[in-house]
Amino acid sequence: MNRFMSFVTTAALLATLQAGAQMQLPGEQSSGMPAVPGPLAAKYKTDADRILTAAMADNDGYAALTYLCDHIGKRVSGSPQLNTAIEWGAELMKKAGLQNVKVQPVMVPHWVRGSESGEILTSGKGAVKKPLHMLGLGMSVGTPKEGITAQVVFVPSFQALDELTPEQVKGKIVLFNPGWHGYGVNSQYRTAGPSRAASKGAVAVLVRSATGLAMQTPHTGTLRYDEKQPKVPAAAVSVEDALMIERLAAEGPVQVHLQMDAHMEADVKAGNVMGEIVGSEHPEQVVVLGGHIDSWDVGQGAQDDGSGIMATFEAVSLIHKLGLKPKRTIRIVFWVNEENGGAGGRAYREMIGDKIGDQVAAFEMDGGAEKPLGIGYGGFGGPRRPAPPAPGAPAVAPPARGALDMTTLSAEEKQSFVYMQDIAALLKPIGTDTVSPGGGGSDIGPITADGVPALSPRTVGLHYFDWHHTEADTLDKVDPDDFKRNTAMLSVVAYVLADMDGRLVGRKSTFRE
Ligand SMILES: [Zn+2]
Repeated sequence: MNRFMSFVTTAALLATLQAGAQMQLPGEQSSGMPAVPGPLAAKYKTDADRILTAAMADNDGYAALTYLCDHIGKRVSGSPQLNTAIEWGAELMKKAGLQNVKVQPVMVPHWVRGSESGEILTSGKGAVKKPLHMLGLGMSVGTPKEGITAQVVFVPSFQALDELTPEQVKGKIVLFNPGWHGYGVNSQYRTAGPSRAASKGAVAVLVRSATGLAMQTPHTGTLRYDEKQPKVPAAAVSVEDALMIERLAAEGPVQVHLQMDAHMEADVKAGNVMGEIVGSEHPEQVVVLGGHIDSWDVGQGAQDDGSGIMATFEAVSLIHKLGLKPKRTIRIVFWVNEENGGAGGRAYREMIGDKIGDQVAAFEMDGGAEKPLGIGYGGFGGPRRPAPPAPGAPAVAPPARGALDMTTLSAEEKQSFVYMQDIAALLKPIGTDTVSPGGGGSDIGPITADGVPALSPRTVGLHYFDWHHTEADTLDKVDPDDFKRNTAMLSVVAYVLADMDGRLVGRKSTFRE
C-alpha cells in the first residue's frame, strides 16, 4: 500500500499543530485541537449524518450492554462468566450480520480471589477492632490459612520506603498511602509496591485505592510481582481506611490482621471474539476497533469495559445496518485478558504476523463511555505504561499513551493530523469534534508498537476512576446518551478511515513493556 501521500501544509495548519504542542500536558489530558473541515468532511457529510442520526436513535447497543451487565455480569479471566460472555458476543456479532465471526483461542491466567478480610486490631492507644474495607489485588498470593497479624508501617512514597532500614520493615505490613496524584502515578504503587516492600522484608502490603473519590470503596487491579522478590499478599484498602491507619500510625504501633485465600489455578482456554464488514475493494486492509471483554471479579464491568465493547460493536453494526460498504475491512474485536495479563492483545498481534502493514488503524475504547469530547490520536507509537520505578526513583506521571512531541512530526504524520481534523468536522453535530495528541490502549498496544496508528475516544473523564475496578462499576453508571454519542463517533471515524483514499501513518515504538 502507499504510505506516501501528498499533503498540503498551510500556515493555519502549522499554527494549529504548534498550538496543540503547547497545549499538551503530561498525562492523558489534552484540550484537543479543533476540527478543520476539508475534502473528507465534504465527501462523507451525507453518510456521516446518516450514521449520526441512526446512532443517536439506536437503543440496541445499550440494550446489549444491559444484558451483558445484568445477565452475564463480572467476567474475570478464567471464570465461567467470561466464557459465557465470549459465546454470547460471537452470537451477537452473527445476529448483527457481521462476516467472518470467530473466536480466536487464547489461554488466560486463572486467578481466584477466594474469601478475604482485614481488621485493624490495636493502635498505640489500645484495641480498635475495626474491619477494613479491602479488596485483594489481582494476581496476589494469599496469606497462610490463619492469616497474617503484623504491625503496619505507613509510607507516603517509594522514596520514603527506600529511606527505611530493613529492620524497620522486616516482618511488617507496608501501607502505601501516597495521596491522589492521578491514575498514572497511583497505579504504580499497586503494580510495583508489593515487590518493592517485599524486597525490604515486608510480609504483606496494603495500598490506598487508586481513586480520587473517598466513598469507602476499595479498588482492585493487577499487581506485578518482581520474580526476584518473595511474593507477599497485597490488598487495596478504601481511601478512608488508609487515612485512618495513617492517623493511628502517627500515634503509635498499629496492628492489622489480614486473611486472603487468593491463589492461581491452571490457565483456562478463552478467546478474542471478532467479526467483520469485509471491504469491497481492499478486503485485506483492516481498520480494527474494540475493547476488552474480560473485567475484574467485582461489579459488572460496565464502564470497564462493557461500554467499550458494546459501543464499538454497535458502531460497526450500524454501518452494516445502513448498508454502507467501505472499501477496506472493518473488524470488531473483543480482546480477552486485558486486566491481568494482556494475552488477548498479544495473541491478536501473533495472528496478524507479517501482515502488520495491512492494519490501517486501531481504535480502542477502554476509558469508559462518559461524554465524549473527540478523538485521541496517538498514531506514532511511544510509551504505553511506565516501567516500574527503579529503587530510589520516584513514581512519576507516565507520558500519555502514545504521546508525541508535535514538533517532531514528519510530513506524512502532519498529514495524518489533517485527516483526523477533517474527519472530526463530521462529528460537530454531536459535539465531539476535537482531535487530541495521544491515544491508544493496552489491547492494541502490541500492534501500535509495531507502527499501526492508534486511536481512542477522549471523554470528559470526570468519574471513570471513581468506579473503576470496584463493586460500583455497574450499568447505572453508563449514561445512555453519552454511550450513544461514543457509538456515533466511533462509527463515523471507523467508516471514513476504512473508505477514504489516504491512510494514516504510524511509527514503530522503541519502547516495549
Ligand atoms: Zn479496561
